Amino acid sequence: MRVLSGIQPTGRFHWGNYFGAIRQYIDLQFEEAAFYFVANWHALGTVREPASLRGWTFDAAIDLLALGLDPQRAVLFVQSEVPQVSELCWILMTGAPMGLLERCHAYKDKKAKGLPADAGVFTYPVLMAADILAYDSDTVPVGEDQVQHIEVCRDLAASFNHHFGEVFKMPKAKLLDVSKKVPGTDGEKMSKSYNNTLEVFEDPKAQRKKRPMEQPKEPDGDHLFQLYSLVATDAEREAMATLYRRGGFGYGEVKKALADAAERFFAEPRAKRAELAADPKRISEILDDGAARARRKAEEVLNRAKRACGLV
Ligand code: ATP
Ligand code: MG
Repeated sequence: MRVLSGIQPTGRFHWGNYFGAIRQYIDLQFEEAAFYFVANWHALGTVREPASLRGWTFDAAIDLLALGLDPQRAVLFVQSEVPQVSELCWILMTGAPMGLLERCHAYKDKKAKGLPADAGVFTYPVLMAADILAYDSDTVPVGEDQVQHIEVCRDLAASFNHHFGEVFKMPKAKLLDVSKKVPGTDGEKMSKSYNNTLEVFEDPKAQRKKRPMEQPKEPDGDHLFQLYSLVATDAEREAMATLYRRGGFGYGEVKKALADAAERFFAEPRAKRAELAADPKRISEILDDGAARARRKAEEVLNRAKRACGLV
């Protein structure tokens, strides 16, 4: 099984990224092949400040390594280092129906809010399809918000294969039931754009100040309890559920328990991160090596696609 996933350097990683996606990357790196990339082409649409884009790209690589990604097992690279993918993107673009892209939520949401949308947002799912197909990926570990884009990828691949022969493998999304949609501190989906995140590598003291807005009641369905369950042991979770049901239990106490459990849960990656960040040369070497391996695979798939459609 070949695994692939990408993550945008649009800011620092939050619990949604970790529990929805990154945790799967780590578990799946033992498969036949695993490719993970920092999606800086995708991020360029939102991050228009070169120093931030560069910094977050590097931070993303360090974060992934600190959380357990092993560069000996998985190929870790930066998206823009594999230009073959943009060439493949163009090939897929020529067969991508406008109506299909108009239904995709990133673009639709912008339109609905009356915000200006650029061609990058509109064609984002095609680039994502190229990202996936370029590595003959079978499995794409993601959060629920990406399922629609993977459906688009399958549509584009099927239509290309129908016209030109069996060139692309059909990928499938892989979700974790308990954390495919991690709620933010306000109960909505945790997202960098909603200002409701708990960051993985945030200073624990700063994190304790973040105020969730709702009063918890029944544990099932309560977003704070859901967040607590992600970092607590089974016994702690049961004890907390009992406290919830007993009543007279302030959300200040839940917040404190949540912060304590989180500090313990992420202690090891935090220490590892400090070590990695002190050695930027090593990070660059890992990314260079990953990019070279990624290019080799993408080149092979790109040539297959070009031959099939007569681009010689
Ligand atoms: P942005 O707000 O800039 O889109 P993001 O936080 O949504 O950023 P992405 O890079 O778009 O991050 O997504 C990276 C991965 O994290 C994807 O697989 C996505 O499905 C997953 N993910 C993001 N937010 C959540 C969430 N709240 N719960 C579960 N998975 C999530
Ligand atoms: Mg997103």
